[in-house]
Amino acid sequence: MQKITVKPGAKLVDYKAYGSLYSSVLDFTEQSKEPIESLKGRTIWMINSTAIGGGVAEMLPSQMRILRELGVSIEWLVIEAKKDAFFDLTKRIHNAIHGSGNGIFTEEDRKIYEEVNQNNLSKALELINDGDIVVVHDPQPMPLAAMIKKKKNVSIIWRCHIGLEDDTDVTDAVWKFLEPYTNDYDHFVFSLPSYVPNPLKNRTSIIPPAIDPLSHKNRELQLHKCIGILYQSGILDDHKAILYHRYKHLVRRVMPDGSFDVLDAGKNLDLIYRPIVTEISRWDRLKGFKELMEAFIKMKVDNRKNGDPKSLEYKRIEMTLLVLGGPDPSFVSDDPEGKEVLKELTETYKTVDKNMQNDIAILLLPLDNPKENALIVNALQRSSSIIVQNSIQEGFGLTATEAMWKRKPVLVSNAAGLKYQVVDNKTGKINPDPTDIENLSKTLAYMLNHPKERDKWGFNGQLRVIQNFTLFSQLLSWLGTLSANKT
Ligand code: UDP
Repeated sequence: MQKITVKPGAKLVDYKAYGSLYSSVLDFTEQSKEPIESLKGRTIWMINSTAIGGGVAEMLPSQMRILRELGVSIEWLVIEAKKDAFFDLTKRIHNAIHGSGNGIFTEEDRKIYEEVNQNNLSKALELINDGDIVVVHDPQPMPLAAMIKKKKNVSIIWRCHIGLEDDTDVTDAVWKFLEPYTNDYDHFVFSLPSYVPNPLKNRTSIIPPAIDPLSHKNRELQLHKCIGILYQSGILDDHKAILYHRYKHLVRRVMPDGSFDVLDAGKNLDLIYRPIVTEISRWDRLKGFKELMEAFIKMKVDNRKNGDPKSLEYKRIEMTLLVLGGPDPSFVSDDPEGKEVLKELTETYKTVDKNMQNDIAILLLPLDNPKENALIVNALQRSSSIIVQNSIQEGFGLTATEAMWKRKPVLVSNAAGLKYQVVDNKTGKINPDPTDIENLSKTLAYMLNHPKERDKWGFNGQLRVIQNFTLFSQLLSWLGTLSANKT
């Protein structure tokens, strides 16, 4: 069990200074007073299974910083698990909550599950006191809080970040496997009402995940930084390419001899206009990377077959790059499947036509340095014309919210969380079936060739995030839930 230190970062005054967030901060400060007062004298313990990578590790630090600034005592613990078998099992549980896998969980599985959690118990008991509130994120540490509750007078809450809208045999089986622990919990938090299994319905709050608009991943980033990152990752041959993409009409300069200075490549604007389509996610089959790559290839092949080489539409598609970004698997501790999925994607990539390979970049991002990783993701998202989240299942895709905050049009599947985040034809496009390559490729081409709509969707998307998905609306819901569920 490891206690994670949260570094200093943005304060309320910084958010307030950011024009579009001003009223959110004022409302939050006013409405949070009462629940915060009621939590005095207790510590909130957040427990999960990794300090880097994935949505939970992404959101906790900023939430904790704001709550601490307002006087809440809140800490973050990460469980230790040295066994591959444990993470294999918790990944199967994760997949089963999403409705995939065979739904078979054995007594041997339970033994592994409980043993790893039991190994973290003594350290947890040293730190946690009577009256505290323990919030467990996702399935990995679920038995631990139930064990703590047997020894201390604490309330325990399970925050489930995943879910499936329809019950299946597989979801029934996994909820049955988890029942001995859910029975001990005081309260649950899910992202959408439709994710809540029936037996937990009257003990659950709904809190959609949110982003921190001022984190390294979401804060404004200067163009030169974005260009630098694209250049460094090898997906741009030349710094100039993206500059021309942004600035069609170049500023000219009068030279000492009276001539005008203009950069040479300016003559070939059509050729260096390179829209970028990006999906950034964990390497997980449910994220639909492979399908996106196939759709992208199909779009290009169809364009070459049917398009008019002289038209702007043809050139735009011809010049488009696809970026598939995900964690460098050597840094991720709780995702054994990631390496395998990346290998499958790499194998498919190897079979792609050589010409086409240059238009596709599979990037492994350095998760060992969270700040650097966040800035790279930020730069990639900001340099993109379209952000895709082609998930086959998705609890709630933070990447789509991050993109919308950056005024990017999004192309998402209708996996439950995403269709709640994105409004079709208003903040982007919802493609009903992420495995329908034909439709995906057409929607991508449509979006690429409608830049005015893309601008409009990007603008609407940012507004939607401010109104619904920033950490302020989320923290208010959390404070309400915590103060209603203390011992
Ligand atoms: N992410 C990242 N680097 C990567 C892949 C993902 O920083 O290489 C981040 C991404 O920007 C997002 C989070 O990890 O903030 C993933 O959250 P999401 O809800 O999209 O998916 P999850 O991983 O929770 O299923």
